[in-house]
Amino acid sequence: MKVEVLAVGTELLLGQIADTNGAWLGEQLALAGVDSHFHQVVGDNLERIVLALRTALARADGVVVTGGLGPTHDDITREAIAEVMQVPLVRDPAIAERIRALFASRGREMPSSNLRQAEVPEGATPIEQRQGTAPGLVCPVGRKVVYALPGVPHELREMFARGVLPDLRRRLAEQGATGVIASRVLRTWGLSESALGERLAGRVAALDAAGGNPTLALQASGIEGIKVRITAKAPDPGSAGAMLAAEEAEVRAAVGDAVFGVDGDTMEAAVGRLLLERHLTLGLAESLTGGLVSARIVAVAGASAWFRGAVVSYAPEVKWQVLGVPEGPVVSEDAAEAMAAGAAKVLGADVGLALTGVAGPDELEGKAPGTVVVGLVLPGGPPTARRLRLPGDRERVRQMAVISALDLVRRALLAAGPPAR
Ligand code: ATP
Ligand code: MG
Repeated sequence: MKVEVLAVGTELLLGQIADTNGAWLGEQLALAGVDSHFHQVVGDNLERIVLALRTALARADGVVVTGGLGPTHDDITREAIAEVMQVPLVRDPAIAERIRALFASRGREMPSSNLRQAEVPEGATPIEQRQGTAPGLVCPVGRKVVYALPGVPHELREMFARGVLPDLRRRLAEQGATGVIASRVLRTWGLSESALGERLAGRVAALDAAGGNPTLALQASGIEGIKVRITAKAPDPGSAGAMLAAEEAEVRAAVGDAVFGVDGDTMEAAVGRLLLERHLTLGLAESLTGGLVSARIVAVAGASAWFRGAVVSYAPEVKWQVLGVPEGPVVSEDAAEAMAAGAAKVLGADVGLALTGVAGPDELEGKAPGTVVVGLVLPGGPPTARRLRLPGDRERVRQMAVISALDLVRRALLAAGPPAR
């Protein structure tokens, strides 16, 4: 079964708001096992909404429309659907009564314009309004269907679950198509998008040749790394899960340690897990990040089991006096190593991690903005340092430094071998 999404609103075309409803609906349709091959965005214009609806209905079994159900003159989704259905709009007294009651409960008179929201294309079934004033609509068009939902996101979500999903499920069952589409995101750090693409090229080609199920897609997400999304279509959740697991193993084999987490996993949570398994604690010395690493770590529930704390050693004197760094240049391998060792000692931690560098916009000690040196010391080993060149402005350099440094800890722990048992 194919269902398209149509977002109505001139403000969407003008870029004043983003079509988050479209994205959300796309996800929900996939979860319901419905294919969605096209999404359209159209302004508040009757002719063009009608054209968009007809176009969608020519290609698909149904359309979910969001927006344009309000009481003002530019809310014309209802009229457009009536035109496509070739029926008149008729007033539904029950809806009118509910709108009137809603205004009364707020101690206000109902403006007559709101009565427009009680008009329903003949033959359509309203989805009762619970939160806002506009009801949704289920509108049969021959054997196909148009669902109309309000633009306000929380109203849309509630109404989709209550009024659209059950009807979709019934139609899916009639077609004997009760499959599911499931997806899993593998989160990576440390390989560029093109490097990841190269490593996965063989896998993508093999999947294509085998019929394109499951599929792999890359999504660059800035400081959140690059996501590899696996999507599988299957008759039931169990077999979809098995397909995802098998493909996850293939991807991990191709890209190795670059995968730090799955779905909602964060880099800091991944580091925490590794430390916990090894019964190790972490202490930080932060210069250019000024506590950003620490803030992300303490956002992880249970971080107190593995995180000791941080010294925000911003001024050179603090590095020297608090952390025992020998006086000298502070954006250097020597300083980063001494900061890491100092942080571990001062904070009583097993693992010490230090960040020093130049966030910009100005140079420091003759080093360019984006120069970051990360120091790391693991128990029983000598401190080491890694120099990075990070792109972007001050904010981006600081954010990239956070996740890059955490990734170094992650990789070092993995390289040191599995936890002793
Ligand atoms: P209402 O009955 O509240 O007027 P409506 O169905 O007329 O709802 P719109 O007027 O089109 O909906 O949109 C109402 C608000 O919902 C917009 O101001 C916007 O904030 C939000 N909205 C509309 N469409 C979208 C969309 N596609 N994605 C995200 N938000 C949206
Ligand atoms: Mg409106």
